[in-house]
Amino acid sequence: MLVKDFSDCVGNTPVVRLDRFFDYSYSEVLAKLELMNPGGSVKDRPAKYIIEKLIESGKLIPNLHHVIESSSGNLAIALAMQCRRFNLQFTCVVDPKISPLNLKIIESLGANIDMVTEKDLNGGYLDTRINRVQHLEQHVPNGFWVNQYANPMNWQSHYDGEGEELIKQLSDPVDYLVMGVSTSGTLLGISRRLKEAYPKMKVVAVDAVGSVLFNNKPSPRELPGIGASRVPALLKTDEIDQVIHVDDYESALACRRLVTKEGILAGGSSGSALAAVQKLLAQQKTPCKILTLLPDRGERYLDMVYDNVWVESARQRHLSSLESSEVLKPTPPLPAELTQVQPEAISH
Ligand code: PMP
Repeated sequence: MLVKDFSDCVGNTPVVRLDRFFDYSYSEVLAKLELMNPGGSVKDRPAKYIIEKLIESGKLIPNLHHVIESSSGNLAIALAMQCRRFNLQFTCVVDPKISPLNLKIIESLGANIDMVTEKDLNGGYLDTRINRVQHLEQHVPNGFWVNQYANPMNWQSHYDGEGEELIKQLSDPVDYLVMGVSTSGTLLGISRRLKEAYPKMKVVAVDAVGSVLFNNKPSPRELPGIGASRVPALLKTDEIDQVIHVDDYESALACRRLVTKEGILAGGSSGSALAAVQKLLAQQKTPCKILTLLPDRGERYLDMVYDNVWVESARQRHLSSLESSEVLKPTPPLPAELTQVQPEAISH
């Protein structure tokens, strides 16, 4: 394949059956491999789509505008790549939860880093980051805030992107769409497109324990990617049939099982999505077809889900929240094989 621009490699990601992960269950679980995008994540989609649309409409002018955004990492990496393409300056507002590796990648891609350090009232950094972005938008010459939490082009990029591709890739209707949520752009964009073809499909959102997206109490959580400490303007809960909460430990176990069974080294929210599928399957009485998505690669999580010390501390949080939390009471017990970290998967 000959492409004229690296950005042409965004999208057209394959869909894989996860038969070994789910022990050749009668149900079928398919995963769209967004981790194969050139920037390493699903966020290549909105970054490319939004920057291109803004340039086409004249709202962003190459060599002139200064793009500003708040991001936990993946969107920042994707935007930094797009901004290099059009010679746009880019300032990325981040918080201390960002991994040192992501910071280095974003800086290496030529972006300016603006780190907030104060937590907001929900115990996260989202409000502080948004306030900082608004400040920068007003004070930086030709500043332009992409605003992934409220910009409809975020969900539209997934509607036209993964949604359109999936219609061609899937041979039969799916019963459930199960996806991690932060801005909700990925889930809503894909579900809006797929529901046109499969109106009976149920939409299942996967949220992190400790996130406030669906009115739960905030609590400590470490995995970046899914969950939020503030409800984004894009989120429309009436389009979601079910919410499944997954904590850091459950996500890490599913990531490790994905390595062990399928040889796929994926990021934390891929584990969250797969742990949610396990919980959903446990509720099913008849075989069904489930579609999920693996949002990013695992290399950026080597000191989290693939580090035994980190997993042990996540396990301690998991056990203490099981004792005290109302939220976790309806969750069925983990299958026996998942209650142990599988050392053969990866150890440091
Ligand atoms: N997983 C990962 C790794 C992500 O970076 C994100 C985006 N923060 C998501 C899932 C959730 O996607 P969205 O913001 O579209 O809800």
